[in-house]
Amino acid sequence: MDPTLELALRLGAAVTLFAAFALWEALAPRRPLAVGRLRRWPGNLGIVLVDAALVRLIVPTAVVGAALYAAGNGIGLFNLLHLRLSVGFLFGFLLLDLAIYLQHVVFHKVPWLWRLHRMHHADLDIDVSTGLRFHPFEILISLGIKIAVVLAFGIPPVAVLAFEVALNATSMFNHSNARMPAWLDRVLRLILVTPDMHRVHHSVEQIEHDSNFGFNLPWWDRLFGTYRAAPKAGHDGMTIGLSIFRDPKELRLDRLLTQPFRDA
Ligand SMILES: [Zn+2]
Ligand SMILES: [Zn+2]
Repeated sequence: MDPTLELALRLGAAVTLFAAFALWEALAPRRPLAVGRLRRWPGNLGIVLVDAALVRLIVPTAVVGAALYAAGNGIGLFNLLHLRLSVGFLFGFLLLDLAIYLQHVVFHKVPWLWRLHRMHHADLDIDVSTGLRFHPFEILISLGIKIAVVLAFGIPPVAVLAFEVALNATSMFNHSNARMPAWLDRVLRLILVTPDMHRVHHSVEQIEHDSNFGFNLPWWDRLFGTYRAAPKAGHDGMTIGLSIFRDPKELRLDRLLTQPFRDA
């Protein structure tokens, strides 16, 4: 596909989904926001623009590029095994999702990586904009990890593109402050990380933010024992964020960018 067209389609889909989830949150909020959109969105959307300018726009293209390179040169396990495309697609998608789950766990456990990732957690509320709030250095490291996985396994380009699009969409979905019927959450949670499942991961309590690492498929948390069904204080009573960076001035774009290099 023409790269400009691909970029336009991806951007168009992202903006449309963002608007749809934002509208859903406004019409059916899950919980009242502590700080609200007005004070948070300039910083959160500002970081999206910084990320987009630095790395975000190139990430899917670069990872798909690595997949095309692997396919063209017979690199990676799947290419060596001459797997059928459907099989390569399925296993490729699952492997990328597992890699992102493991990467997320590592970003919580390794102190200098946690300094980068904790900016995502320092948001004082969780809503659709939080789903895009990542430090550019975290996105860059994640890019390197994804390229390594794609090259090692020779994941088909179409699986990589589908995964990138799905990850972007599910990240906005599962950060949404949107209400859905309990039965729907229960059913969806069998195949997808839902907002109520991911919100536990944004609790100020360490035992809770060190659980539910999945972004897309919910199965890894169940498999590796990091699943937590609900926050102890309930969704309405829980506190979102971290014990540090609670001053609302930390929601400003310049503060978001420097948080990894500060302790207060
Ligand atoms: Zn996290
Ligand atoms: Zn999150």
